[in-house]
Amino acid sequence: MSMLNVGRPTAPEALPDNDYKHPTLTGGRGLLQDEALIFEMGAWDKTGVDLDEVDLDLSDLGGLTRDEAIGLPGLSEPEAMRHYVRLSQKNHAIDLAIYPLGSCTMKHNPRLNERMARLPGFADVHPLQPQSTVQGALQLMDSLAHWLKTLTGMPAVALSPKAGAHGELCGLLAIRAAHEAKGQGHRKTVLVPTSAHGTNPATAAFVGYRVKEVAQTADGRVDVADLAGKLGPDTAAIMVTNPNTCGLFERDVVEIARLTHEAGAYFYADGANFNAIVGRVRPGDLGVDAMHINLHKTFSTPHGGGGPGAGPVVLSEALAPFAPAPWVVSDGQGGFRLEEREAGEAAQAFGRMCVFHGQMGMYVRALSYMLSHGSDGLRQVAEDAVLNANYLKARLETEMTAAFPEGPCMHEALFDDRWLDGTGITTLDVAKALIDEGFHPMTMYFPLVVRGAMLIEPTETEPRAELDRFAEALLALARAAKAGELERFKGAPYHAPLRRLDETRAARQPKLRWRPESPTALAAE
Ligand SMILES: *Cc1c(COP(=O)(O)O)cnc(C)c1O
Repeated sequence: MSMLNVGRPTAPEALPDNDYKHPTLTGGRGLLQDEALIFEMGAWDKTGVDLDEVDLDLSDLGGLTRDEAIGLPGLSEPEAMRHYVRLSQKNHAIDLAIYPLGSCTMKHNPRLNERMARLPGFADVHPLQPQSTVQGALQLMDSLAHWLKTLTGMPAVALSPKAGAHGELCGLLAIRAAHEAKGQGHRKTVLVPTSAHGTNPATAAFVGYRVKEVAQTADGRVDVADLAGKLGPDTAAIMVTNPNTCGLFERDVVEIARLTHEAGAYFYADGANFNAIVGRVRPGDLGVDAMHINLHKTFSTPHGGGGPGAGPVVLSEALAPFAPAPWVVSDGQGGFRLEEREAGEAAQAFGRMCVFHGQMGMYVRALSYMLSHGSDGLRQVAEDAVLNANYLKARLETEMTAAFPEGPCMHEALFDDRWLDGTGITTLDVAKALIDEGFHPMTMYFPLVVRGAMLIEPTETEPRAELDRFAEALLALARAAKAGELERFKGAPYHAPLRRLDETRAARQPKLRWRPESPTALAAE
């Protein structure tokens, strides 16, 4: 996580009258205190732990021994606890309300998963332990691999990638290795549809491929004629998301796979949207060669700050020999071992994706989720996710313009900003106003192919009452926008702990170091 010093709340006098008439004396709001950076709290000599004095012989460090104070802030246990709990209250969480970020599948993380992940036999194992002492953990990895292969209809899976984007890298490295093994290393182009997630072209470029865009049809799908014209002897792979990032199923996916294979290229599927089809469609049956699965999306393991993600990649027969080490091998009599080295059976492995075996805690959570749902339950997950998205699409279409109004959507409902024409209000303004109403905004301005895109993915874990609350808030805002209530939108959010931040600048010029000499320079300019 990067530490972005994006500043303190805007001075209260800058707020319009109607929203925050009475600035507080302390910066606190309601029961929420204003929170300083941990470095600003000013205690350097305190610790919550009593450590024995050490008398170490540090001579091995030569001249590298630190002779200044290390400069870590000191807090007692209750102070540290309060600091982090207060910070957490400034942010949104799936445990607070709907988190309708399109393409992110922010579903409830069942507590059963957490219970399982904390079992000492999983939580306390060390990656360097002798394999004979971690047979249960290896068996769990083997079971998870079995479920992932069965659900996708694919013969092999590399478990170790640590996120969707890392899985994309794994898939393209396997594709590159397969081409090289066939003497086809000259294939240098990867085709990516215009609606793709940014990680797709970024991954292809990172692996050294040229990226060529494939056009989209008026109804939001891959333009097959354009694809056919661009496939050629130089094409290494095509990367297609299905359902795509417009929330639509690629009807021509079998034809896309056929054309791709006919051109001697591989079909990489971005499986981030697998939640919409899990238990209903097996990507292997569609002709996919490699696909990552975001365990933190489809299989309910926490995202980002809630814990590391995991992006296992399923592989077709053609790509399986190039899968990265390690993988679990069953001896058929209840014993398991890890194939660790790129030799013997694994001689063609392209290498490895990480030092050890991937995110053990995520494997436990994902398998716990699969076993508690069962195969019929997983199928219902997909059906309910699609139903919830269509419910929101139908309710919101009364005031907002659906980007692709024809027919139902899959797991997410996509709107454009035509309904805001003439109001002077933008997608960003609507998102910020939603924060004031107590809702985390939808994904904005993605996919890029839709003007002012608002991509809403409720997931199957939202009850109807929560969908209604969200829809009613958004519909009320839509009516306010059309009625010309500019101020409500242009200054929003008024009620959030922080107002509008310069996010671009924070991302491009992150201040990663706190400097005690100029604390005021920390404020975002
Ligand atoms: C989330 C997502 C990714 C990247 O996955 P990470 O786990 O965030 O790296 C790639 N493609 C699509 C369509 C996604 O929604």
